[in-house]
Amino acid sequence: MKDFLVAQAGSPSLAVGWIQDCSIRGQVNTGLMYQLLRQRGDLVPWSSLVHDKACLPKHSFLSMLVMVNKLPTIDNLVLRGIHLVNRCVLCCQYSEDIQHLFFLCPYSAKVWTTMAAWLQTTSSTSLAHVTIWF
Ligand SMILES: [Zn+2]
Repeated sequence: MKDFLVAQAGSPSLAVGWIQDCSIRGQVNTGLMYQLLRQRGDLVPWSSLVHDKACLPKHSFLSMLVMVNKLPTIDNLVLRGIHLVNRCVLCCQYSEDIQHLFFLCPYSAKVWTTMAAWLQTTSSTSLAHVTIWF
């Protein structure tokens, strides 16, 4: 951690200054240090969808994994070197990826169709459409 902090600050003396800036009554405040060290990127368009206060944390986390295509679907597990037969766990007919699992699988499509009818709207066929719709 020391080497990382020095590399991020640029020098040992600057790192000491960062530690002092993030200390309260002689104790390093990890929250302040996290805010100082974390890298901030551009705000993604789906940020408010994933980080809505009405969402349960596990739903927010899973939504974020879907949005960045890191959900452990079979295609992603195969890409990570795990040897699996890539078949959808719901229909056992097609390869499992996010698009299939959530939209193209006959079972998922039935859920979307039922929900769309209940909400009196059109059914979703892609993650991009759902993101805009939400
Ligand atoms: Zn399927």
